[in-house]
Amino acid sequence: MQNYELIVERIAKAAGLEKEEVERRVEAKKAKLSGLISKEGAAQIIAAELGINFEDADLKISELTAGMRRVNIVGKIISMYPVREFNKNGREGKVLNFTIADETGSTRVVLWDVNHIELFESEKIKVGDVVEIKNGSTRENEIHLSGFSELKKSEVVMDEIKTGAVVSEGSLEEARQGQNVRVRGVVVQVFAPRFYKVCSSCNKKAVVTVGSGESVVGGGEYRCPEHGVVTPGDRAILNFVLDDGTESMRVVMFSDQIKLVVAEEDLKDEVKAAAFRDDFMGSEIYLSGNVKRNQLFNNLEIVATGVEKVDVEKLIQVLSD
Ligand SMILES: [Zn+2]
Repeated sequence: MQNYELIVERIAKAAGLEKEEVERRVEAKKAKLSGLISKEGAAQIIAAELGINFEDADLKISELTAGMRRVNIVGKIISMYPVREFNKNGREGKVLNFTIADETGSTRVVLWDVNHIELFESEKIKVGDVVEIKNGSTRENEIHLSGFSELKKSEVVMDEIKTGAVVSEGSLEEARQGQNVRVRGVVVQVFAPRFYKVCSSCNKKAVVTVGSGESVVGGGEYRCPEHGVVTPGDRAILNFVLDDGTESMRVVMFSDQIKLVVAEEDLKDEVKAAAFRDDFMGSEIYLSGNVKRNQLFNNLEIVATGVEKVDVEKLIQVLSD
């Protein structure tokens, strides 16, 4: 609702209309489209019809949506992550993430330009400062700044800020047992894959029974609770360590998640598995998962439910075109 009101205000100001008139047009548009679109959607259409461009407008954090260009925003820095260096296909660079908030919410800002990053390295800008961003672009729930973007300290005083993220997103440091989290981090360690036997009919773990049956050779056979004695298949488990700048945590991936990053068959091949580990190591990912306590090590780990690689090359391309 808040977002809708902001759009209406923006249209009224840009078009020199009364707010009530804009709202009347929005309602009429909505009625004409048989209520198939939201008030916000109808307001966007009215804006387009009036030739109002939201590009170059000063936006509030709650107004941000994915794929926006030339975003201008003012926010207070509420947290910051350490600078990370990356080397992707021979291209070296630095990346710095921080979180800003205004009175409508908070969002992550990602810096790719060394000049912007230098402002933080030299502590010209630090946590608690209000910054002004011009010509940023949005991706996922983040604002990305390229060399064409502007970043500077603002004189605006922001007392009332809403620090909660508009879309829930966490850090490993804040992760608690039982939570479902979504974090962005770098893979800092990849362990050799392990395999376990499953029933080839139902894919459930098959139990090895020693000395049962009459034709046992080599000491055991595999038994599925449902399907009895089976010829088992191999399923992989992959463990790695993710670091998001606040903490590092061990992550467990099973077949359904593994296949999002590599063909499971490849892990059975020593050369291909090594190549995958090399490639996965150091990559930046969005990870969703459940935080569980590992009974053996008595520490928290994440059982992955979703893994998505952050495509650095693609981001750079998007930002530089
Ligand atoms: Zn089975």
